[in-house]
Amino acid sequence: MAETPATPSADDLASRAAGTHIVVIGGGVGGLIAARECAKVGMRVTLLEAADAVGGAIRRTELDGVGLDAGAESYATRGGHVRALLQELGLGDRIVAPAAGGAWLAGIPGIGAAPLPVGGLLGIPSNPFQEDVRRVIGWSGAWRAYLDRVRPPLTIGHQLSLGRLVASRMGAKVRDRLVAPVTTGVYSASPDDVDVDVAAPGLNAALTRVGSLSGAVMALRQDGAARKTPGAAVEGLIGGMGAVLDALLEDLARFDAEVRTATRVEQVARDGDGWRVTSRSRPEATADDADDESEPADLVEEFDADAVIVATDEGTARVLLADAVPALAASMAGAAVVAPEIEVVTLLLDAPVLDAAPRGTGVLTVPGSHIAKALTHSTAKWDWVREAAGGRHVVRVSFGAQGEPAATAELDDDAAAQLALSEASALLGVPLAPSALIAAHRARYVQAQPASIIGAGERRDAARAAVQDVPGLAAVGAWLAGTGLAQVLPDAKGESDRLRHALLFA
Ligand SMILES: Cc1cc2nc3c(=O)[nH]c(=O)nc-3n(C[C@H](O)[C@H](O)[C@H](O)COP(=O)(O)OP(=O)(O)OC[C@H]3O[C@@H](n4cnc5c(N)ncnc54)[C@H](O)[C@@H]3O)c2cc1C
Repeated sequence: MAETPATPSADDLASRAAGTHIVVIGGGVGGLIAARECAKVGMRVTLLEAADAVGGAIRRTELDGVGLDAGAESYATRGGHVRALLQELGLGDRIVAPAAGGAWLAGIPGIGAAPLPVGGLLGIPSNPFQEDVRRVIGWSGAWRAYLDRVRPPLTIGHQLSLGRLVASRMGAKVRDRLVAPVTTGVYSASPDDVDVDVAAPGLNAALTRVGSLSGAVMALRQDGAARKTPGAAVEGLIGGMGAVLDALLEDLARFDAEVRTATRVEQVARDGDGWRVTSRSRPEATADDADDESEPADLVEEFDADAVIVATDEGTARVLLADAVPALAASMAGAAVVAPEIEVVTLLLDAPVLDAAPRGTGVLTVPGSHIAKALTHSTAKWDWVREAAGGRHVVRVSFGAQGEPAATAELDDDAAAQLALSEASALLGVPLAPSALIAAHRARYVQAQPASIIGAGERRDAARAAVQDVPGLAAVGAWLAGTGLAQVLPDAKGESDRLRHALLFA
């Protein structure tokens, strides 16, 4: 009979932890959380980040003295994971809800802009004749959507594509004017590519049960499911989500973890039972270099590790792990991953015309109607931004979506700011002269392929299983967990715990 391994003593565990070196590759929120989980049990941790600062999609900027988020600015409340972490990090008293103003839709044929209807699910209305819905889709659109109620239940089948499901049941106007702006804004994806079962779990089943799509939306809302869908309820932090980075870095320093920025990992290789990680960085300039005209050579370093946690974007992770995890290639199943490349231009404006918040907290666009994809009126959405801006306005304009490069990508910073200003003027429905622009910041991001894209779930599960099969290895981040802090945080915690357990109780 096989012997059950004896449970290690507390002293054994402490010395095993202290003798274990973990290298974390990538210092976005996924990598920072993973590093903290390992460091806090006494493991030696080295985190290597390619950029000059940690944070990844949590990025900060300062415009004329106003500190702002240039990337993620909030988190979904569902699951309570982010809130719990913020409280653990001592940031609980800075948690705030956005203003209740609500968002608008822009680019509606015939009418331009209108408030985003309330009470739907991913933009699908529960009542097509509701005043704010009918305003967007018109009488003909409302009657077409109503046919959903009288169509025979026999035609109901299990439809994977959200866009096709909505168009077949309620018509193209509901799909194009109500659902597409939401999926583009939330997932950077067309509704046709979005998997209903991932984006709105339970909708297909409710449709079969109640016999109509609008009835299914109503049923799910009564069950409280709408609160669980992305974008349904969010919170932010006074001072911005960037505060999370400071708190995590402080914790890492307290646990003696080493954090290296401007250090790009180029190779991850098996080395006996452990790993060898090779990085490249620019050496720091010294006073002697000032007279030296030649470029200093890059610094190539090797790190030996007992375990590695890869916390980069998907493309980088797949390249770094190609040799160590051959099964990862099979998880692609021949599909090309198209990661949306987006740009966010943040504008600080002297524009009293915006005091009245003409489009509430922000604007989603009907795809094809504008160059920009979405806009957040930050001074209308967050009280702390309004107070920090001292009578001026902050507006964030987003460009680019899945399969559609950002219109600003080829422009220099000034031209990008001017385009963002003219789009802001169009989306907010007010004139904004070039003289209104006080300062601008532009940031580029490669987003994870949305988890709700049809087929993404299977690819992600296969990739995760392939990585988990390799001892001493874990991968975390939005490409595996799904986009958003509410997904990335608990997933990074869970994966680090799995790895820690395997290392300490082996
Ligand atoms: C503009 C924008 C706004 C968003 N807004 C919100 C929001 O309001 N609420 C919300 O919940 N979510 C939001 N998100 C999504 C959320 O921010 C992300 O899902 C999450 O931050 C991803 O974290 P991550 O650690 O997986 O990846 P990332 O943040 O992308 O971090 C990956 C890190 O790996 C580093 N790296 C890459 N290659 C290497 C290498 N070879 N060596 C070393 N390091 C490397 C990168 O430099 C980067 O720092 C937003 C995303 C974007 C882009």
